[in-house]
Amino acid sequence: MTNINEIQRFSFDNTNVRGARVLLNEAYQNIISRKDYPKPIESLLGEFVAAISLLRDIVKIDGVLSLQCKGNGFLQTLMTECDENQNLRGIAQWDENQKVPEQLSLKELLEGGYLIITISPKKGQRYQGIVEVVGDTLAECLEQYFYQSEQLPSRVWLAANDTQCGGLFLQRLPAEQAKEGDEDAWGRFTHLASTVTNEELLELSTVDLLHRLYHEEDVRLYDAKAMQFGCSCSRQRTRDAVASLGAEEVRQILSEQGKISADCQFCAELYVFTKDDLADLLGDLKQTH
Ligand SMILES: [Zn+2]
Repeated sequence: MTNINEIQRFSFDNTNVRGARVLLNEAYQNIISRKDYPKPIESLLGEFVAAISLLRDIVKIDGVLSLQCKGNGFLQTLMTECDENQNLRGIAQWDENQKVPEQLSLKELLEGGYLIITISPKKGQRYQGIVEVVGDTLAECLEQYFYQSEQLPSRVWLAANDTQCGGLFLQRLPAEQAKEGDEDAWGRFTHLASTVTNEELLELSTVDLLHRLYHEEDVRLYDAKAMQFGCSCSRQRTRDAVASLGAEEVRQILSEQGKISADCQFCAELYVFTKDDLADLLGDLKQTH
């Protein structure tokens, strides 16, 4: 299948409703290929990847946005991230001692869990929003988040299978941003969107999807933005993580293994440090010890 990793915004003429649609294959496949994910965890990871893509497009910051969840069910943590250049990465951790059933609800996966949305601008303060997992789907939880954080009515549809993930987003902007008020527009657009099937979200191009849902409306489609898998790991960051182990432990691993190897869980890049690579670090740590 051709590469279809992109996000595209749209708006409806003469209303205050805007939207976006994301569809990913290669970028998503890259993320889920890192581990042998049980089916329900893989598809939730896909929904998260589609969701972070939509969120990243809405939040106007120069920096990284992350969407995580933590829980006490089968799934322990799940994390997705997207930077200002539409580089995506993600990972999930689950209890590998338990057999994960083929079918699980979000609540069963994440018992008593919550979502964490972190905005990390390049300059300025980090902002974190937390939403309890009360809805039956990730989409419902995100709608809750939008309502809490922006007081803007928003609707989200997400879907994932083993090769693709996709999402659709609609939001009603505040009245003062309305062009010519179309009072019924929001109800009509969300009603039409709620007829979308998972297959349509995953198979149709954005033009075809919008035609299928809104062929009688005046939809304005903006330029698509490419999205791709991309990892922000680096040798320096990995070295910082090694340093945080402390001089004693670093010395011990070096004496046992002759080197320290660490591979990135997001992209599998392998970083190897020899005693020489860490000499100054060991010296620094020695002084502070
Ligand atoms: Zn990496």
